[in-house]
Amino acid sequence: MKQYNHFINNEYVAPAGGEWMDTINPYTGEAWAQIPKGTDKDVDRAVAAAKAAMTTGPYAKMTPTERGKMMLRLADLVAANAQRLAEIEVRDNGKLMSEMLGQLNYHPEWWRYFGGLADKLEGGVVPIDKPEHFAYTTHEPVGVVGALTAWNSPLMFIAWKCAPAIAAGCSVVVKPSEFTSASTLEFAALTKEAGFPDGVFNVVVGLGPTVGSALVNHPDVAKITFTGSDATGAAIYAQAARTMKRVTLELGGKSPNIVFADADLDKAAAGVISGIFAATGQTCIAGSRLLVENSIKEAFTKRIVALGKSAKKGDPMLADTNIGPVTTPAQYQKVLSYIDIAKGEGARCILGGQAAADMPGGQFVEPTIFTDVTPDMRIAKEEVFGPVLSIIGFDGEEEAIRLGNDTIYGLAAGVWTENIGRAVRMSKALKAGTVWVNTYRAVSYMMPFGGMKHSGLGRESGIDAVRHYLETKSTWISYSDKVPANPFVMR
Ligand code: NAD
Repeated sequence: MKQYNHFINNEYVAPAGGEWMDTINPYTGEAWAQIPKGTDKDVDRAVAAAKAAMTTGPYAKMTPTERGKMMLRLADLVAANAQRLAEIEVRDNGKLMSEMLGQLNYHPEWWRYFGGLADKLEGGVVPIDKPEHFAYTTHEPVGVVGALTAWNSPLMFIAWKCAPAIAAGCSVVVKPSEFTSASTLEFAALTKEAGFPDGVFNVVVGLGPTVGSALVNHPDVAKITFTGSDATGAAIYAQAARTMKRVTLELGGKSPNIVFADADLDKAAAGVISGIFAATGQTCIAGSRLLVENSIKEAFTKRIVALGKSAKKGDPMLADTNIGPVTTPAQYQKVLSYIDIAKGEGARCILGGQAAADMPGGQFVEPTIFTDVTPDMRIAKEEVFGPVLSIIGFDGEEEAIRLGNDTIYGLAAGVWTENIGRAVRMSKALKAGTVWVNTYRAVSYMMPFGGMKHSGLGRESGIDAVRHYLETKSTWISYSDKVPANPFVMR
């Protein structure tokens, strides 16, 4: 069995504590590799390397143009290794090969986009109102960045976080999910091959409460960027405050997918199904609440049940599989317990509603649809992170907006309508970081992504993402040849 090591200072190094743990293939339920069970000593070593890179190492002297070029080289290397990396991700998280290969083929664009941006982060000369002063701003890297990622799309999160961070001139220490660390460790070798100097990109693997927490508490880490659950995000936010770290948080959701009677119902049905059953529902942007106008509720429900029924469960590596396993045993139990909760609350199960007994590995859940869901039920409020859809009826825009926003989350929303005025009104009224109209689950390196309310803080992707990794410095230079008349007052 392959045994992985941390990646620190451009070398693979064994964990200081000498301990490893198994990483499991959720399709077979079997261990396929071992990953380090790191400790705070490993974090100290990685942060020291990252700090040295930004202060005394060659990275500190690189021009932004050189930095950009090394990022472009990395993009080409990821493109050349996309298939291999995608296979590792599927082996670790059980998501579909078609989805993970799509992510890996797209991944290089983040390095190209932010690599191109690296030498365009200009400051400005301010036409200052004080006489005989020259005033200008410059942007400096915020410092060492700690990047903590979730298990569902490990390398996509690396691109979203590390490409803007490195474009800004920061160095990073990544702590991937303990369930899916292998792809990040394999990716690390490509950064070295691309010419990243020592200490720029480091990976420390281990459990959240030990390795993750040590990174969040480390005094030499200036910024934390995190993707994960809102409970962990809130804990990290509080911890990070003690050392005044900057934070970006990409958290969970309970996104409404809102279908009006005037929608193109074929497109809407496909969008609703892909919103909840793609990736076996294990995405932060899952459209887990279907809000459908009452006049078409019955007919539309029939349509999506028929489409949901056609989903083929199977080996996620195979091209014709639609539904793969749930990634972790704990998540599998959580999804099943939410199905029981929904039944207990009086929601009516019209598809699935149980574990798929016919599948290997033991971690398959049938695609599940509940109707007669009311907004006060837990199944309508809490993130399941699995293939479970709740249907709620509504009448008219006002009620759709009220129900759509009736959640602590605000990550995404879908709107299906052929009425352009309604599309704009809905987008304006919905409290979500992303609103998709007549489409769902579209993301791009160019488009800001992030949550409102409990779904997080800050945005990733798009030009502004790089600002989250920069500090602005204001420099004032007096060119007066006179001594100030009154040194005891503000200028
Ligand atoms: P999680 O919060 O359990 O773990 C995320 C990361 O944090 C892991 O690397 C974990 O080891 C680490 N961690 C756990 N406890 C920690 C602690 N006390 N201190 C520091 N680090 C700690 O989340 P998960 O189960 O891996 O992922 C699923 C969640 O992620 C869902 O809620 C989902 O909605 C969310 N998510 C959000 C986005 C987004 O972009 N908004 C994308 C994907 C997933």
